[in-house]
Amino acid sequence: MTLRPIITLPDEKILREISKPVISVDVQTRKLWDDMLETMYHAPGIGLAAIQIGIAQRAIVVDLSKDGEEKTPIFLANPEIIWSSEAQSDYEEGCLSIPEYYEMVTRPSEVKVRYLDRQGQPVEMHAAGLMATCLQHEIDHLNGVLFIDHISRLKRERVVKKFQKAQKLGKL
Ligand code: ZN
Repeated sequence: MTLRPIITLPDEKILREISKPVISVDVQTRKLWDDMLETMYHAPGIGLAAIQIGIAQRAIVVDLSKDGEEKTPIFLANPEIIWSSEAQSDYEEGCLSIPEYYEMVTRPSEVKVRYLDRQGQPVEMHAAGLMATCLQHEIDHLNGVLFIDHISRLKRERVVKKFQKAQKLGKL
């Protein structure tokens, strides 16, 4: 496994790319997932999309286990939301590509996601709570969408400016 650098704001160009489907889940896909998982654990974070390390493939890793608990990684290729609940919930979200920024985001509280697992088998998962939020956030990444797109324009512009300024000052 290899630790990969995570792309962060203001470097939006890559993060805005639409990722391409994984053609077949093979040894390379599993290597990519393993690198992503190590990178995510190291950050630390609970979800990572391949585009966040500059690979425009529809691959995601998620692990909601807490510190000290047994790890429970989930590897997803080509995930699709096939159902979302009308009920919505608010979660304070963050993103490894937008370090140290957190904001409340409203999303459907439950979703059903279809994806290919580590063996390339199709799986359907019903997710609620944090898992539902996390999957929606990561699937957004595959479509070039960031969680700040779900907050007010004013707040979004403010955070983007903050990162642009930090880069100019050489702090990033
Ligand atoms: Zn993110």
